[in-house]
Amino acid sequence: MSINWLLLGGHQSQKREVIVDQDPQKGEVITECYCPNGHTILTDKAQFHGHLGLTLKIKNKTSEGLLVISPVIGDRGRTFIDFEKQLGEVVEICCPTCSEPFPLYNVCPCGAHLVALFTSQKAHFSQCIGICQRLGCLHSELLSERDLRLYSRQDYL
Ligand SMILES: [Zn+2]
Ligand SMILES: [Zn+2]
Repeated sequence: MSINWLLLGGHQSQKREVIVDQDPQKGEVITECYCPNGHTILTDKAQFHGHLGLTLKIKNKTSEGLLVISPVIGDRGRTFIDFEKQLGEVVEICCPTCSEPFPLYNVCPCGAHLVALFTSQKAHFSQCIGICQRLGCLHSELLSERDLRLYSRQDYL
């Protein structure tokens, strides 16, 4: 599969871009995503365009449930499972396997925090997807580290 979306954007080794709406047919797909403890969070609880969804445990003061989001970059598809969502509410986002909260790494333009979903098992902030803790806020970001990624690919030979 193509990884062009990691390679776009000049000579900087650290890139941070806001993910914008895109035709899901053309979007690149996240095929690896991990919690801070290395559990994969791609599951078949919900699928989007034939791809496994990114599965997150979400908690508020009174309940917890699952939020599954589309792994297709630029696709806003998301599904709530067993959760009474209140739009605008800020929730805790955790691993569905170990319940470890995903770390906050930045402030969202809406005032809530962005949490980092790691796209590499190294669980490093230079390679992650950022999603907002506020239900209904669809701001998301893609962080990648071009040079490191290329280097590690060579390393795997
Ligand atoms: Zn975990
Ligand atoms: Zn937000």
